[in-house]
Amino acid sequence: MDWDSLSVFFFIFSIALIAVFFGYAAIVSLLEKEMRAFTVFLVSTLIFSFLLFLVYATIVPWYLFIAADMVLIVAILLFFLPFKNGFSNAENPLMRIDERIIMFSMSRLIPGSKRYRDYYDEFPEHLDNDRQFRNLPGLLSSEAPFFDEKYFYAALNNFSTVETLHNLVDGPFVERESEVDPSEVTNFISSWVEKMGAHSNGVTKLHDYHKYSIVGRGDDYGKKVELDHTYAFAFTVEMDKNLMDAAPMAPVVFESSQQYLRSGLIAVQVAEWIRSLGYDARAHIDGNYRVVCPLIARDAGLGEIGRMGLLMTPRLGPRVRIAVVTTNMPLQVSKRLPDPSVDAFCDVCKKCAITCPSAAIPKDQKQEIDGILRWQIDQEKCYTYWCRVGTDCGKCMRLCPYSHPDNFLHNVVRYGIKRSHLFRKFAVRMDDFVYGKNPKPRLPKG
Ligand code: SF4
Ligand code: SF4
Repeated sequence: MDWDSLSVFFFIFSIALIAVFFGYAAIVSLLEKEMRAFTVFLVSTLIFSFLLFLVYATIVPWYLFIAADMVLIVAILLFFLPFKNGFSNAENPLMRIDERIIMFSMSRLIPGSKRYRDYYDEFPEHLDNDRQFRNLPGLLSSEAPFFDEKYFYAALNNFSTVETLHNLVDGPFVERESEVDPSEVTNFISSWVEKMGAHSNGVTKLHDYHKYSIVGRGDDYGKKVELDHTYAFAFTVEMDKNLMDAAPMAPVVFESSQQYLRSGLIAVQVAEWIRSLGYDARAHIDGNYRVVCPLIARDAGLGEIGRMGLLMTPRLGPRVRIAVVTTNMPLQVSKRLPDPSVDAFCDVCKKCAITCPSAAIPKDQKQEIDGILRWQIDQEKCYTYWCRVGTDCGKCMRLCPYSHPDNFLHNVVRYGIKRSHLFRKFAVRMDDFVYGKNPKPRLPKG
């Protein structure tokens, strides 16, 4: 085969491949109900198919084919070569977090109560914010603009079921005399939680910075966190994409409650099973934590912490909920491979920060906070917005480019984001173009 026909063959092959890929992307987008993306990919398929037809129908000089082939090859190499891959500056907190100062704890304080007075005597700087959110309808309030009877009442029921699980997070056990095999029990728990619906799971050693310093919710409010466990088992459950597409409307708070319930059930089952084997264990579930779950999940190898302060998992981005079981039963620690591309992508992306309705997510670089470099969301602004609309918003989670479904199409993009800085910049622009810069929420049918 001479140069002439080789370049023609390669060119036709490349164009055909691109047309097929766009055709596949159009079908996937249609199935995902992404109509804007479907239109973009359909038009692209037609353009490349027409180009293919032109190549067959016209006589093009061979050197033009070679030039086009070279451009294609360079483009592919640039997108997938790790020529600038960033560096991981994921640091560990230097001090433990006081759970009382997080918004979920503050929001539970009852005005006029001793706990309320004591808290604001100690933290008077938080009082203004308290007045702001208490003057709003409130989370899951029937007065809120996004109130929807079916979703709100289902969410309220889910949350009260989670509350009943709080009695099961820990309990007595009879100390075991013989040792278990760490690898065997870890594999068993891992496959069991998968069977129960977990998306990913892993184990880390429990460090001091994983633990809250002071309990911020429940009967033990104000007590020092005492947790002498050695290991933490973390897992994620997926948030349903269709329901999340409605964020910040009512379906999102229903889905959050549903996944808190699902992860809570799994965690208490695992903790109870460990105790029955003769080791202490505690589940950490919604409203009843002694540990900071995203940090544990990160150290257990489940992802990195992104700009919006949530765990960014490799296959679902932030579209997960996390629960943890801590124990002193020997477990096999997972190997964590830090992924600097998440930091690097968040650096160029900023989509969550630009579209957040309460401007709670920082748009700038990481700042030094309590001795470490990190992004920190303004939890007061975020929670105040929740109290205004009645749901837990989740718009940042919905619009994050990492949140697309776990399938071949989106995993190709995730691969490019992981490998190449140039591709990251391209992916941000493409995500805006294909899915929209600030697309409207989409309510599920039925
Ligand atoms: S939307 Fe962009 S900046 Fe925000 S967390 Fe996701 S990737 Fe990072
Ligand atoms: S949940 Fe909503 S208000 Fe809160 S940070 Fe995300 S986008 Fe902003």
